[in-house]
Amino acid sequence: MDEQATSSPGAAKALKVLFLSAEVDPFAKTGGLADVAGSLPKALRRMGHDIRVAMPAYGRIDRERFGLDPIVDPFPIPMGAETRPATIYQSMMGDGVPVYFTGNAHYFDRENIYGYEDDADRFVFYCRAALEMCRRIDWQPDVVHCNDWHTGIVPNWLHTVYAEDAFFKETATAYTIHNLQYQGIYDRHVLRVAGIEEYGFVVHSEVPQNLNEVVDLMARGILFTDVINTVSPTYAEEILTPEFGEGLDPLLRDRQGDLYGILNGIDTEEWNPATDDQIAATYDVDSLERRAENKLALQADVGLPQNSDVPVIGIITRLADQKGLDILEEAIDHILDLDVQFALLGVGERHYHNLFQRVADEYPSKAGITLTFNAPLARKIYAGSDMFLMPSRFEPCGLGQMLSMRYGSVPIVRAVGGLADTVFDYNPRTGEGNGFVFTDYDPWALFAAVVRAVEIYRHTDAWRQVQIRGMHTDFSWENSAQQYVTLYQRALKALHEPRSPVEYQVIEDRPIDREPASE
Ligand code: ADP
Repeated sequence: MDEQATSSPGAAKALKVLFLSAEVDPFAKTGGLADVAGSLPKALRRMGHDIRVAMPAYGRIDRERFGLDPIVDPFPIPMGAETRPATIYQSMMGDGVPVYFTGNAHYFDRENIYGYEDDADRFVFYCRAALEMCRRIDWQPDVVHCNDWHTGIVPNWLHTVYAEDAFFKETATAYTIHNLQYQGIYDRHVLRVAGIEEYGFVVHSEVPQNLNEVVDLMARGILFTDVINTVSPTYAEEILTPEFGEGLDPLLRDRQGDLYGILNGIDTEEWNPATDDQIAATYDVDSLERRAENKLALQADVGLPQNSDVPVIGIITRLADQKGLDILEEAIDHILDLDVQFALLGVGERHYHNLFQRVADEYPSKAGITLTFNAPLARKIYAGSDMFLMPSRFEPCGLGQMLSMRYGSVPIVRAVGGLADTVFDYNPRTGEGNGFVFTDYDPWALFAAVVRAVEIYRHTDAWRQVQIRGMHTDFSWENSAQQYVTLYQRALKALHEPRSPVEYQVIEDRPIDREPASE
């Protein structure tokens, strides 16, 4: 059979991709990384690629519900001078994507996903076990797709301890930055548990993190990987600047030629108001009047007076500085002086828990505040709110604005990162736009955008057009998944290309057997 007969015209060679992510929806989630890991692999599988996901087997994962089965005998993973046993369980995601869970009771039978002193050890262990598993199931990946700092050690390994390993010799890495703010910065101890002591620290004269004194796992991912991308074209540009570069912009500028921006998609089957069985009334773009039922249900759920006329502003977010909550803090009383209601769902920093608790106490009939992680309530807010607020200081991509548009809730956002790539300001003269956008990181700019939205909301026909435009926007993965295939192909090509002169320098003679005083 010739090539044409075995593959559709123009189709790429099917790739074997190991997708590493610390969180994967629906197994364990704190934010957008889990959404991406739970949907992009499915889109790639539908395109014919043999993509498989690996994540840690956290204690909180419901093993019975997801049918986790051990697939190989436990095997030892070197962690410095000692070894620890890894068990691999398997389950499946939709579209036939296998998911491997690397288990170890000591590291993962804990209440939370993150937040432990030995997080570096935990994620180093998970990554090593995922790579070693490939050998045991005799499945040789073309590309290991690493995501965020938790997996930053993998490109480092493939260019050091695994460089001469026949099994991984032809394996390239792609490294996706979902959020540059979380870098995984640890001390020299990590070099030992990762088995790369002999290679030592990396150095870069312009990086303020002093890479020759700390192990910055995000920086290592960026330095050693074959190709890099981030999750929107605008954030890919922004992180080259000191304002958004989190200290790593010099490294990123060095590797600018290998850095791409690929906008996240959403799982449009999982998130579909026409079929969502967790909302009060299903609807589509032709039955938007049915949203009113969801709004009344939401108001009841979060303890607000039921009123279908008053605009409900939804927020679903990690309560972190990144999300623009400090400017919201300054504007919130003014916003609540307007004729609006506010439905907020979020969990995170104590300061913001206190702030929103205060707002709940002061405005019981205007603010419905839920300070937990609650996936079903999130759906009800997307379906029942009229507007969705994201005043982010920075936003690598942002999924909330896409999910809200999918559900007909009109986003009010700051023009930054992926928000700038997906939300376009409503122009009353031309009628164009799918949301309300402000630029300055300033409470009054935020307030003015809310006022504009509330004003247009009163013009029912105009409002409906904005809603419809949002609902018609294509946020499916198909387009972006194709861009990931191109990224993987670039990674494979880069594997055999000489690297441009020294982006990093390994210090081999620095003594690293002394622990720092703080340890
Ligand atoms: P980030 O990844 O920075 O947290 P994104 O907008 O990319 O932000 O993704 C956030 C995802 O997490 C969305 O799916 C959102 O609905 C969900 N989410 C955030 N906070 C909560 C919460 N408290 N309860 C339920 N879902 C949440």
